[in-house]
Amino acid sequence: MDADVDFFAPRRCMRAPISEIFLAAELLDRATDAHLAGDRAEAEALIRAADMPAVRAWTESLWGSSKAYPDQHSLNRFRVVVDAPPNLPRENRIPQRMPTAAEKAKLIDRFGHRCAFCGIPVIRKEIRVAFSRRYPDAAYWGHTNPTQHAAFQCMWLQFDHALPHSRGGDNSVENVLITCAPCNYGRMQWTLEEVGLIDPRGIPILKTDWDGLERFLSRP
Ligand SMILES: [Zn+2]
Repeated sequence: MDADVDFFAPRRCMRAPISEIFLAAELLDRATDAHLAGDRAEAEALIRAADMPAVRAWTESLWGSSKAYPDQHSLNRFRVVVDAPPNLPRENRIPQRMPTAAEKAKLIDRFGHRCAFCGIPVIRKEIRVAFSRRYPDAAYWGHTNPTQHAAFQCMWLQFDHALPHSRGGDNSVENVLITCAPCNYGRMQWTLEEVGLIDPRGIPILKTDWDGLERFLSRP
């Protein structure tokens, strides 16, 4: 019975983050400092050091195929919820629209550069693109998961729908959360209740000095 109690207990995230993710963030933070100081070799070495297999494995355990991760149900813990909003046919969904730039800024201001679920540091796509442009070999970014830098992939800032779009969720700032990519894609089309997640909108946000490496853009 204890196993059942654990399975259904409310929780903040599907899988607790591992320490390597925070270490990778620290290395990328130092790489940013090195870049801003004009030390390209040091920045490059630090970006490479942040590309950790353990971080990739954590990401894959959440968003990889359930065939490759047969134990994945113990992470997502899906349960049937009576009266859950149905999966809507495509034509009945609210037309997809991403938040505007002003709404995105408001969301980042509200949540900080942190995943609202697991709490890991997150980095906007635009920052990662800037890294890849300046350090294409170290901050590599291909079209498939294994060809993307593990830390930039894991820490990829998402505008995630609290009530999924496919379940009738809209794109208002009230329904959008800042999350990491594994938490976003790992939850897929499930509601918070269906996977036992505590709604992060009801929890005070812990602000830290992590800036999402936004300062990287200050050096052309
Ligand atoms: Zn997360």
